[in-house]
Amino acid sequence: MRSLLGQFLIAGCVGFFSISVSAQETTPLTTWYRNLLAPGDSESIEGVLKRKQDNLLAALEIQDDSARVFLLLEMGMTQATRAYKYEEAMDLFLKALSLADSAALLNGQVYAYLSIAHVFNETGNIEKSLQFLERAHDVSLSIKQPDNLALVLNALGKAYAAADQPEEAFERFEEVLSLKDQLQQPDFEAEALFNMAQLYVLQKSYSNALDYFKQALAVRRKHRERIGEGVLLNEIGAVYELMNNAERALANYKAALEVFQLADYKKGIAEAYNNLGLFYYRQKNYKQALPNFELALQSAQSSQTKDALRTSYDYLSLTCKALGDYKRALTYRELFLAMNEFMAKEENDQKLLEAQSLYALVKKEQEIEKLELVKRDRERELAEQQRIQQYLYLLIGLGFVIIMLTLYLYLLKRRSNHQLKQINETIERQNVQLQQLNATKDKFFSIIGHDIKGPLNSLTSFSNLLINHFEALSKEDIQTVARDLDKSLKNLFTLLNNLLEWARSQTGNIDFNPESFDIVAVLGQNKDLLQTQAAAKEITILHEQNNPIQVRANQQSITTVVRNLISNAIKFTPAHGVIKLGAEQKDNEVIVSVADTGVGMSQAVVAKLFRLDSKHSTPGTANEKGTGLGLILCKDFVEKNGGKLWVESEEGKGSVFYFSLHKID
Ligand code: ADP
Repeated sequence: MRSLLGQFLIAGCVGFFSISVSAQETTPLTTWYRNLLAPGDSESIEGVLKRKQDNLLAALEIQDDSARVFLLLEMGMTQATRAYKYEEAMDLFLKALSLADSAALLNGQVYAYLSIAHVFNETGNIEKSLQFLERAHDVSLSIKQPDNLALVLNALGKAYAAADQPEEAFERFEEVLSLKDQLQQPDFEAEALFNMAQLYVLQKSYSNALDYFKQALAVRRKHRERIGEGVLLNEIGAVYELMNNAERALANYKAALEVFQLADYKKGIAEAYNNLGLFYYRQKNYKQALPNFELALQSAQSSQTKDALRTSYDYLSLTCKALGDYKRALTYRELFLAMNEFMAKEENDQKLLEAQSLYALVKKEQEIEKLELVKRDRERELAEQQRIQQYLYLLIGLGFVIIMLTLYLYLLKRRSNHQLKQINETIERQNVQLQQLNATKDKFFSIIGHDIKGPLNSLTSFSNLLINHFEALSKEDIQTVARDLDKSLKNLFTLLNNLLEWARSQTGNIDFNPESFDIVAVLGQNKDLLQTQAAAKEITILHEQNNPIQVRANQQSITTVVRNLISNAIKFTPAHGVIKLGAEQKDNEVIVSVADTGVGMSQAVVAKLFRLDSKHSTPGTANEKGTGLGLILCKDFVEKNGGKLWVESEEGKGSVFYFSLHKID
């Protein structure tokens, strides 16, 4: 008697292979694999292997890795399923797996794992088989091909069932059912339902089993899968028998027979007749049982179905015996024993081969593990490389960001530097302006001291004269003094006005409004004003010009210049010297000159004049104090009026100061 597990696996296989040809075009790989598991035996093993070896060489020639992987798997399967040479089979599967790994052929990996799992299953190592089916499952998940996944899941479910883990098994089959709308081949759905029904039978849950078998039957019928339908009817009959429903059992066995007959499927016919015979035999209806066993024998003989043959011989012998036909009973008994012996021998041979293979498979397992380790190492390396690559990208990105940031900061700094420079320049400019303003202020005060002291001195002398000699002065004298006093005061007032205006001009608040006036008259007026001062040093001021010369300038400022120059001449000319005033027309200009016979200046001193930074000053011949600012003021005023001021001087002989003004024709 076969074990429940064996029954389960074999029954599963029948349902599994019976419909394999139909969907060859749509999912060739799943069909290809299922055909591999159920090879025909029309061609000799050697013939098949030789042919595939030739193809393998051709595939190698054209470097078709995919073809090589599948040919290796085909050769391996031939060794496993037909020659029971599991060691050789495993060798070939390993080669296929290693090639699929290195060529990154995911399908190749899935079927290599499935094939390896098959060998472990065949040699009774369910645990290992499961392990490789799980690997096949992992890879098939990444392929995302529903039929492929369903095939793996059904195989996994069966392996879990065989490993006595029905819950896990049910889960896998349910998963297949959840895929049913995406499946191109209905076989996988029917197979999952069939497998679940089988599990229920094992659990003695017959009504559930019936339900699932019927669902599977509906799928088979819908797709006109005759053989599958027959198999299911047989199974349903068997379940009814287990449920003691003889009537339904018989009806289903008969229906199965009909379906197989229609399909002319001898193997199925033999099984169906045997089932009917057994049914009647169990009912002790030997007369009915006999013809069924005879017909089963006929079909089993023509289809060379050993199991069916053995059953037929066994029960024909028993039935004949029961019917009292001992002679025939003996003949069938002998035939049964011979068949049994033959099959036992075959099974023994297979067991022997398996046993031999088992030892070798342990070694192969190590090889597989090594292969797995290599694969995992490679995956780790790849992951490492990817990580390094990611780091690199990250670094490059970071570098880029840093460069951009640096560039941005640099630009920002450059801009702020530029702004800072501009601000600095502005500050510097303002500084210079401030210094100039400060210098202007200094000049202003100095000029006040310088230019106001003189007139105030003469005013004091007038007032002294009036106070001290009032009695001695006649009315006319007093009038003259008062007039002079008034004149001096007016001049002083004018001067003060001038200074204030100059100060304003320095701060940029005033224009030197030009006007037309007679420069000769201005020279005369200043000569008169300073006459007393000159007379005190017994200096003669000569001004012999009478013809007016019109110039265009600001009269007040030019008056200040003239007065300053005459003052200086008086100051730096010893007693009995002569000062000569002149105005001469030259081209479009009028050159005004103040010449003296004074101390003169060296070239070094001349170079220092008119410069605020050097501010040269020496005391006068009568030890008069000075500020060194008078000439700077003069030059400033002349230039503001559009003219130039310069000096020609010789030490010990005297100096001539010139300045030019715009002439008016
Ligand atoms: P201050 O007369 O108050 O010193 P100025 O600017 O008027 O200031 O003159 C600067 C200096 O130039 C004088 O101190 C003197 O050394 C020289 N200087 C000016 N005018 C004459 C001149 N006519 N003859 C000789 N030296 C002169």
